[in-house]
Amino acid sequence: MICLWCGKTQKEVIQLAELLSFTKINPSIKCDSCSNKLVSLCNGPTCKGCSRYWSEKGLCPDCQKWKIEYPDYPFKHTALYQYNEFIKEWIEAYKYTGDYRLGELFTKEIQYFFYKQKKVVIPIPISDKSKQLRGFNQVEGMLTFSGVKYIRALTHCGTGEKQSSKNRKMRMLSPQPFRIDKGCEAKIKEKEIILVDDIYTTGRTFFHAAECLLENGAKTVETFSISR
Ligand SMILES: [Zn+2]
Ligand SMILES: [Zn+2]
Repeated sequence: MICLWCGKTQKEVIQLAELLSFTKINPSIKCDSCSNKLVSLCNGPTCKGCSRYWSEKGLCPDCQKWKIEYPDYPFKHTALYQYNEFIKEWIEAYKYTGDYRLGELFTKEIQYFFYKQKKVVIPIPISDKSKQLRGFNQVEGMLTFSGVKYIRALTHCGTGEKQSSKNRKMRMLSPQPFRIDKGCEAKIKEKEIILVDDIYTTGRTFFHAAECLLENGAKTVETFSISR
């Protein structure tokens, strides 16, 4: 196996089940040394609202602030890995440099999370400007590599100004950039939805998207990201 990230060759271990079924189960994409640079958030303790490390009871202080603005929101987020130098470099190469192949890096984890998932999967859309620049929506890319079916129910109608270029206060005040895509109203009505993004930073993007879906008749909304 050649690691998709660092290019090193790693000897592959073939499991008995794979030998017996003559199929490759979950082929590895990252080598062990790259995988070891990732810090998993899946085994807690984490805040259930945003998935960050949080050992105390209840929501973290950031989620408590959001709760004032969105008192009825269910606050259920899953993030796979803590944001660190490795994730930062991956995001730069995949999203900003536009190396489409790198959308495959977390396929195994995404498949594991979405396996047997019955909810409607909706990726966070990107602005036309970002799409022109990059050529693809990075979240749709990851879901496609993972074989997860999704619907494009949201449209980004904002300016496409990068959230990361604003300070926290400006990000919090930014207006609703999403609307329901034409003809998608029926696909979200009374449905249980999982919104997907690459990174959970402040939560602003997710709250806007969730608000838009809930106002248009979605039954519940939970969220998922690669990193927090
Ligand atoms: Zn590697
Ligand atoms: Zn939280």
